[in-house]
Amino acid sequence: MANDVRVKVTLSCTECKQRNYNTTKNKRNNSERLELMKYCKFCKKETLHRETK
Ligand SMILES: [Zn+2]
Repeated sequence: MANDVRVKVTLSCTECKQRNYNTTKNKRNNSERLELMKYCKFCKKETLHRETK
């Protein structure tokens, strides 16, 4: 694990702002903010989730 560049990120719904997912990303591959379509149980639909600190 000498070259571990994975960092923990939290994904939050861009519509209701709830933090729904914790995940990790590889900093080397994803230097930009992650944006993923994920199901939000608060919105009850798939919404865009964005990385937060
Ligand atoms: Zn939501």
